[in-house]
Amino acid sequence: MKHVAVVGAGVAGALLTLRLAEAGVPVDLFTGTRPDDASGASGGLVRGYEPDPATAALAAAGIAELRSDARMRDWADFAEIGSVYVTPVSQPPVPAAVDQVLTRLPGSLRLAEPAELPLRDVPEGAVAVRERFAGFIRPARLRAKVLAELPRLGVTVHTRQITAVSGATVRAGAEGFDGYHAVVVAAGAWTRELVPGDAFTTRQIQYGLYPVRVAGLPSFVDETSGLYGRPYDGGRMLFGLSSDRWGLAPEQISPDEDLSARVTACLGERLGVVAQPEQVVASFDCYTEPAGLRLRRAGDVLTFTGGSGGAAKTVLAASRMAARELVPASEGAR
Ligand SMILES: Cc1cc2nc3c(=O)[nH]c(=O)nc-3n(C[C@H](O)[C@H](O)[C@H](O)COP(=O)(O)OP(=O)(O)OC[C@H]3O[C@@H](n4cnc5c(N)ncnc54)[C@H](O)[C@@H]3O)c2cc1C
Repeated sequence: MKHVAVVGAGVAGALLTLRLAEAGVPVDLFTGTRPDDASGASGGLVRGYEPDPATAALAAAGIAELRSDARMRDWADFAEIGSVYVTPVSQPPVPAAVDQVLTRLPGSLRLAEPAELPLRDVPEGAVAVRERFAGFIRPARLRAKVLAELPRLGVTVHTRQITAVSGATVRAGAEGFDGYHAVVVAAGAWTRELVPGDAFTTRQIQYGLYPVRVAGLPSFVDETSGLYGRPYDGGRMLFGLSSDRWGLAPEQISPDEDLSARVTACLGERLGVVAQPEQVVASFDCYTEPAGLRLRRAGDVLTFTGGSGGAAKTVLAASRMAARELVPASEGAR
């Protein structure tokens, strides 16, 4: 079995390492030394439905794993409170995506009228995709639990900040580690520092924690307004809108007060809620087109990133798929 190096220990790198190690592949994981990453800030909303059927298949498979594997459910602290996704008027539910969810999670999904929800002024023609087996996970806890498990599986975990990669070698300054049969960069928004090219960019993601509860709202995304949210610890709610801050380096991210003001206004209009955030969380993710966490080749290395604001949903299944792609590749390199 051939050796793999994984660079980056957000949920993507950590779960990929777990899958490889559980398949018997020797792995060196380089965690880096940056304390604040997307996985640490993630809101963790999970549901099966996505308009893209392939993404829906991954997301639904992840929820099926959370429901069938007590260990993963505990590690992720899966709160199965349900989910609502209100479609854009111009994009009604995609039958092939609905089928992907129902195949993996029978009985979980139904299409409903937005009038069932405590949302105001939803435009005519929007549809509520309601799911029972959905809710939220805690990506930071999932990552921490996986990292704690890895040494038992024989993984060597290096807390090194990697400065250069090539097909067989990773370097941390003057220190080199080589002889790998595959090097996978899972460094999230920092991937573009290690991998040349313009395949990846960054986008700010920001949400606020509000001292309110809204009855009848599980985890939700309302595509007609852009508002998303979920119940949060301490009797609060997490609410957010998409940010238009693209391309910033992670260290340039700071709270966007205009965006917070837009969320507050939207809460008033859509939910009749008058509240200011107690706390604003401003972070970032690695974006790419087409979006999605998967293995991609970049020269002589591989990348496993590109979650584009959604990898908490897909990481469980995407990491399995990536490990399956890598195992024959490393076997073939014998
Ligand atoms: C605020 C916020 C809310 C979100 N909410 C949701 C949600 O509700 N639902 C959902 O599905 N998704 C959500 N997401 C998206 C999801 O959380 C991310 O897609 C996912 O966490 C990305 O994980 P990652 O491992 O790719 O990247 P990261 O978590 O950013 O991890 C990258 C890791 O690489 C390490 N690294 C960087 N450079 C180096 C180096 N040179 N050497 C070694 N290591 C390095 C970093 O230290 C870091 O630990 C949210 C994201 C954010 C930011």
